[in-house]
Parts: sequence; C-alpha cells; structure tokens
Amino acid sequence: MPALDALILPRLAKLEAAGLRRRLAACDPSLVDVASNDYLGLSRHPLLIERACAWTKKHGAGSRASRLVAGTSEEVLALERKLARFKGCEAALIFASGFQLNSSVLPALLELGEKPLVFTDRLNHASLHAGLGSVRQIRFRHNDLAHLEELLERYPGPTRWIVTESVFSMDGDTADVAALSALAARHGAYLYLDEAHATGVLGPQGAGLSQGRATVTMGTLGKALGGAGAYVAGSRALIDWLVNRCAGFIYSTAPSPAAFGALEAALELVPQMEAERARLMQMAERLRKALKARGFDTLASTTQIVPAIFGEAQRALEAAQRLREAGLLAVAIRPPTVPAGSARLRFSLSAALTDAQFERLLTAVTRL
Ligand SMILES: *Cc1c(COP(=O)(O)O)cnc(C)c1O
Repeated sequence: MPALDALILPRLAKLEAAGLRRRLAACDPSLVDVASNDYLGLSRHPLLIERACAWTKKHGAGSRASRLVAGTSEEVLALERKLARFKGCEAALIFASGFQLNSSVLPALLELGEKPLVFTDRLNHASLHAGLGSVRQIRFRHNDLAHLEELLERYPGPTRWIVTESVFSMDGDTADVAALSALAARHGAYLYLDEAHATGVLGPQGAGLSQGRATVTMGTLGKALGGAGAYVAGSRALIDWLVNRCAGFIYSTAPSPAAFGALEAALELVPQMEAERARLMQMAERLRKALKARGFDTLASTTQIVPAIFGEAQRALEAAQRLREAGLLAVAIRPPTVPAGSARLRFSLSAALTDAQFERLLTAVTRL
C-alpha cells in the first residue's frame, strides 16, 4: 500500500499544471471585496452583530445538539414562521448551511412517490448534485424551457421533479419562474427552486422570485441575509416530512444561537432595503456596460452577479492578479466550478460598496 500522500501529491501537481489548483489565501482586508456574496452588506450591519451577540449571551455559543434532541425555542419557531410568510409558504425549516440542506433534503424528497425522475438545469450548483448523488439526472440546457419541455414529454412518470435555481451563481442570470411553474403544472411535475442568490435581493421586499410558485423553495442565510445557514420552505406537510426523514436535519447540531440572532435582525431589515436593492442593480448594469465596452462577454447576467469570460483558466487568474494589484478582490472561477473553456472573473457586487470603491472597480475593469 502506498502512503496516502504518494497518491495525493501527483494529483495536486496535475491540477497545478492545468491552472486548476485551489489554495486557501489569507484575506487582505485592505482589498475592496467584489467576490463575496454579502449583497446588502448585512454581514457587518450593527443590528445583526448586536442581535448575534444578544442571542449568544442568552442561549450560549453553541446549540448543543440537534433540535430534535435539545428542543426548539419558541423564538426559533417564530423565526421559521416569519421566513415562511416572507416566502409566501405555509412553513419553513432552518439548516446550518445550504450545502447541507440541498444534499439532504433532495434524498428525503426522492423517497416519495414511485420511480422519481429528476430534470436538472446543466448549470445547477454543486450542492444540488450532491443531493442527487447517483440518481440519474435528465439534464436540460441551461434555462432552456423548450428543451425541458421536450424532455418532460420524452420521459413520462408518476413522480417527476424539476430542480433548478432562480439566480445562477456563476452566470448571474435568472430563470423564468412563472414559465417554469406553469410548465411544471402542465406536465404534472414538482418544482424545487434554489434561491441562494435571489433571497434578499430580488422580488417584492427581496423575498426572491419563487413567490409561492415552487413546490419546494430553498435559500441561504449566509449571502444577502448576512449571517449563516439556509432555509427550506413549502407546505406544512413537507416540513413535517423533513423533520422525520431528512438526515441532514435530524442528525446535525442546530445552527448557532448567533446565526439565529443575525437572522432575526436580517428579517427585520431586508424587506425595507429597496434603496439598497435598486443601487445594487444600477451598479451591476454599469459594470456590465464597462465590461462589454472592453469586449468582454457577460453572458446573460441581469443581476448583482456579473461574469467576465476569459476562457482559459490561466488568463482569468492573471486578470484576478491584476485587479488585486489595483486593490480589488475579484475571484477567478475555473472548471470544474464552471464548464471547461469558460473560466471567468465573477464579480459579485454589494450595496455596501462606496461610490469611490465602485469607481475604482470600473477604472480597473477598463484597464483589463
Ligand atoms: C452558496 C450556494 C449554496 C450553498 O449554501 P451555503 O449556505 O453556502 O452552504 C446552495 N446553492 C447555491 C446556488 C449556492 O450558490
């Protein structure tokens, strides 16, 4: 038996040679962050920090156990009721992370009905793939509802799920949720919608694009909502099922009191942040214009996530380095996170950027 490291090191060398090796880099607080998902700047909002501290003081640094073991405070149940109302659903359930949620909720759903079939957008997030494990995915071309319809006609069945996102994390484009839900209804399929990047940012009061039209909606609490964790929302029966059958909920320690405290504050603030949402969308539009003027493809982005396509991984890495020298933290996204040959810089904007910081970004972009 070779030493484990002897198996690992040549693999790492291969990634390095292809420009695909990932490294944990120390963060440099002097850089202007246009890489993270703190879209409304809430992670540093005084009310979130204050409430996270207050919940920590009251309930402790940790949650001690699964909620099925340690019990659930009335305050957490109230937060879930508030999230459910925000999403236009009967009930909601909070998880410690979105990856954990998608990777464990989907298996619990696929236990239901006979011979479930799953139709997935080609650009779905890794956590959705994790949730589908070895289940055969019937993939439709990205956001191509005509292709989805063709596949639904070709593969009939009593239990069919469409699994997709409302805002795609690497392209920054949106799904047509009204058309998707109509299509799902027409073909007798359930719709599972990931709203990680829409929650807090798009839709009335920042409640996302689903507006009660998906069978199951999930979203994260660590992006625009500024804290940590994720929620799933749908019918009361759905949530009761997950409490009984979803391993990622049952066998995992509840999110920290600090995370619940931050969520409580975010749910008070987010519905009123229309001005921040409007500014965010204006900045994104200006950034797309600047990139296009430099000849970059920004794909179908219409949101706060703006890609600039380079193609080769190495070229995207070099561009990220040049932006770093200009004082900006922008991240090069490479395969396998995005399809081969579509390495890119992924800008994700925040309403917390000052005008001066945003102008610095535009200037740096015009020099790329
Ligand atoms: C970030 C993300 C997740 C995972 O959420 P975490 O809370 O960060 O684990 C799930 N789906 C999509 C589309 C995401 O972008």
